[in-house]
Amino acid sequence: MKVRLSEVFTSVEGEGTLCGTKTLFVRMAGCPFECFYCDTPDSLPLDSGTEYEVGEACGLIGRSLQPNTYKVNFTGGDPLAQHEALAEMARFVRSTGVPTYIESSCYDSGRFAAVAPLMDFVKIELKTIDSGFVRPESHGRLVQSALECLAESVRLGKTTYVKIVVSARTAPAGFGELAEGVFRTAPAAAVSGFVIQPTHGVAEPPLDLLLRLYDLVRPLYPEVRIVPQLHKMIGAP
Ligand code: SF4
Repeated sequence: MKVRLSEVFTSVEGEGTLCGTKTLFVRMAGCPFECFYCDTPDSLPLDSGTEYEVGEACGLIGRSLQPNTYKVNFTGGDPLAQHEALAEMARFVRSTGVPTYIESSCYDSGRFAAVAPLMDFVKIELKTIDSGFVRPESHGRLVQSALECLAESVRLGKTTYVKIVVSARTAPAGFGELAEGVFRTAPAAAVSGFVIQPTHGVAEPPLDLLLRLYDLVRPLYPEVRIVPQLHKMIGAP
């Protein structure tokens, strides 16, 4: 089996509730979407990056693992675009004793169900309709898929985070519906973090909008956080 990887590198986790942890990032090629704020546009084509045999990719990951690495993030692109290779690499990482982490828009709940048992941490990203993620007529179906993944992750007892990227274009009503959908799907006690992540460098949301969005989540999830991307502030990849 082959896999295309964009890059494998150690850096500081810059997103979410585990931000600040030393992390090995395995950036996989391929994502079928085009969010207007995407910060990894070079990884979107499925034929981008470098092709490896999966065994070769596992060797690269093993050689890249530094001491005291908190976790290995499978990211992209969207790692579900190459879910079979992802499963093999996750098995390998787990054999080293380092926890695995997937960050995905969860666009395919069948693929997600195949890899979720191999993950220790799951970050599910829900997309607002104004993200440019998909055409508006497909948005509901994609959100449904992400919620199915959320339900599966919680059912498996995974440490599960939810992230929603927001911009100046984010409409509070649509954002609020996403948040309500999350907690209709999973009890708050089963969710380990809910992060509102402002865009960086493009259509940045003003503070009053961020606080309005926070106010929509707080009654549903008291530990909601607004967390910007740390790695961009410190110039890390
Ligand atoms: S889903 Fe993620 S990787 Fe794909 S275009 Fe959107 S932000 Fe970029």
